[in-house]
Amino acid sequence: MKRSIVWFRNDLRLHDNEAFNDAVKQNDQIIPVYVFDERVFRGKTKLGFPKTGAFRCRFIIESVENLRLKLRKQNAELVVAVGNPEDIISSLARKHKTSYVYCNRERTQEEVNVQDALENNLWQIGQEVRYYRGKMLYYTADLPFPVSHTPDTFTQFRKEVEKFIPIRKPLKAEDLEIRIPKELDAGDIPRLEDFGWKKEDAGILMHGGETEALRQLNYYLWETDLIADYKETRNGLLGRDYSSKFSAYLSQGCLSPKQVFYEVKAYEKDRQKNKSTYWLIFELLWRDFFRFMAKKHGNKIFRPEGTKDEAVPEYVEKPELFEKWKEARTGIPFIDANMRELNTTGFMSNRGRQNVASFLVKDLKLNWLLGAEYFESQLVDYDPCSNYGNWNYVAGVGSDPREDRYFNIASQAKRYDPDAAYIKHWIPELKDAPHELIFNPFAQSGKSLHHQYNYPPPCVHIKNW
Ligand code: FAD
Repeated sequence: MKRSIVWFRNDLRLHDNEAFNDAVKQNDQIIPVYVFDERVFRGKTKLGFPKTGAFRCRFIIESVENLRLKLRKQNAELVVAVGNPEDIISSLARKHKTSYVYCNRERTQEEVNVQDALENNLWQIGQEVRYYRGKMLYYTADLPFPVSHTPDTFTQFRKEVEKFIPIRKPLKAEDLEIRIPKELDAGDIPRLEDFGWKKEDAGILMHGGETEALRQLNYYLWETDLIADYKETRNGLLGRDYSSKFSAYLSQGCLSPKQVFYEVKAYEKDRQKNKSTYWLIFELLWRDFFRFMAKKHGNKIFRPEGTKDEAVPEYVEKPELFEKWKEARTGIPFIDANMRELNTTGFMSNRGRQNVASFLVKDLKLNWLLGAEYFESQLVDYDPCSNYGNWNYVAGVGSDPREDRYFNIASQAKRYDPDAAYIKHWIPELKDAPHELIFNPFAQSGKSLHHQYNYPPPCVHIKNW
């Protein structure tokens, strides 16, 4: 009797899941497990924010519920526990006399610490971890260069991989015959309240889980053809349809990026191939790029000097400025609207993220790590490599080849929200305010948003507004 554990981590799906597939095929019985890591669900970031805010907490709970449901449909079960994965999984391994733990290998420090600790515990009982991949389009082994030589600029990286390296086919969701031990204690899935959140903290924009992920993939491609206009709409701000909304599913692994790639290829063959269909893949390459950067540069992505390793500018120490940014009280409507969206839904458009990040670093002159940690806590789609990689980039300590990139908030607001619909949606108290004031919060007193609409005065002066 050969029996092994499948440890689900950020790969909460059955399709294109190599660890799961191999475990089922190579063993007589498997024990699928998910552990809500207490350090992640109850812990705090260095600056004291909850490590997993309510939005992502709800999304992950839903994703685990969906995974259990899917396994049950195949007469299997998902063991669920709350605690330290390295302890819970090694005691399961001891109890059930398993041979291996199959799981996805993670790359960032905290996740690596957990897998290393588990490996150590397993060695004590003569067992091992079998690592798999599956978070990216490209496999490290397929790269035309050693990962330590990954180009530091996106364009060079893209050019070196996209033309020459084929993307591996996703595993078909075949009907595997899953066998599990009879005496499994499945455990209850914790509720949001068990982690200190209330339902109303976790506003719903998208539901978690593989079923929803595949539904969204189908919706964005086949049902609505939205993908065919992606390049034109992707800088949108309002509504659900301006971009794919795949990010949270990809981050938790409810959706395989290779599955997305081949679905887009099928769409191109069947319906149409244009710049937009290519652009979605282009964006997924950014996701791969930041993951390779994290692999190449290790913990540097989390440090103030970033992957560039250069001296950082002096940051101002003004906690009240950061509070205003975080709580959407900067007095700059375009920034506040984006932050209100984040605080209400756990999501913000890419355009919004670039603007609020640039504003924090370049206008408020605050340390970028403040913003990155706040995003880590709030984002429903938080992913360490994408989040810290993008913050490195915006703060000028990452892989951006352009020196001193600056987002002019005034022109960004006018360009991407010309009729102020997005601002008025999130700041309804400004619904009757004239556009010239919404777009110029620095208007002289007497006529300002502050005086006429009791809106907070701008918290910083911006040159050349
Ligand atoms: P689409 O525009 O439909 O793009 C498709 C997919 O491509 C996305 O789902 C995502 O997986 C990937 N992608 C797109 N843009 C980027 C990018 N700039 N970097 C990496 N991948 C990208 N994305 C995350 O998934 N998690 C994060 O924690 C995260 N933090 C960010 C922080 C900052 C400061 C910035 C500027 C961007 C961040 N992004 C992050 C990237 C991007 O904003 C989101 O992936 C995107 O807005 C999600 O919406 P979507 O799925 O509709 O994207």
